[in-house]
Amino acid sequence: MVKFGPAGNSDSFYTDGYSSTLDTATWVKNKGLDVFEYSLSRGLTITDDLCIKLGKVFKENNIEITVHAPYYINFANPDDSMIEKSIGYILGSLKKLKLMGGNRCIFHPGSCGKLSRQEAFDNLLKNIKKLIKRVKEEGYDDMLLCPETMGKSQQLGTLEEVAKICNLDKMLIPTIDFGHINAFTQGSIKGEEDYDRIINYLIETIGYEKTKIMHIHFSKIEYGPKGELKHLTFEDDKFGPEFDGLANIIVKYKLSPIIICESKGTQAEDAIKMKKIYQNTMSQK
Ligand SMILES: [Zn+2]
Repeated sequence: MVKFGPAGNSDSFYTDGYSSTLDTATWVKNKGLDVFEYSLSRGLTITDDLCIKLGKVFKENNIEITVHAPYYINFANPDDSMIEKSIGYILGSLKKLKLMGGNRCIFHPGSCGKLSRQEAFDNLLKNIKKLIKRVKEEGYDDMLLCPETMGKSQQLGTLEEVAKICNLDKMLIPTIDFGHINAFTQGSIKGEEDYDRIINYLIETIGYEKTKIMHIHFSKIEYGPKGELKHLTFEDDKFGPEFDGLANIIVKYKLSPIIICESKGTQAEDAIKMKKIYQNTMSQK
């Protein structure tokens, strides 16, 4: 099954009169969506107690929950004490995620800093191995870690880099953020053939099983010479990418990803649009 849902609460959640995250599961369900991505991106401040309560309401409503780990993670940092911190943020995210009853932790792999891209990426691979060892020692080997493709030129996380990271361990599956890929590559995603090329590359490098269950972030993103500038809504008709071509490819390869919409403010509405496009594509098969 392909699941669709928003990253965080959209503006309409609040204009509908809600403010508590405990209402999110029923709200998401009433919109006809399947999943919600909880953001720990600014820190692990949510209490364990609230995680348990959230887990309960999400389970009751049959809505899957995923988490996005803190933004300050950087596995390419040359300073070992900073790597310890990044490992700590992932372990902390996994603890919250487990209490919420989910199993996917999305994270940004790292950035180049003062290092060359190659040096930074070599560091990153070495440190992700360290991370995996620790995650297993702490008993989280039933979780999935989902490194994300990134949109800015200084960030690590091209499609090729994410595939290499995912090949380090079975716990690692990709978060393919098509808006980020499009921004990083100055608008290379123009239609179905481009999605086909990306999915084919994944099948060839990480295998069909991981590609089938991959995590997807989808939003339109404004970019400049150095890549990502800002997240847009589906109203945009300038930067893209468009979802239609991807829907065809998901059907073609019989994929069952989780698709999270990160539109600015309209993430639930745009997730609904994607779900309808996908269902239409399926029904025409
Ligand atoms: Zn992200």
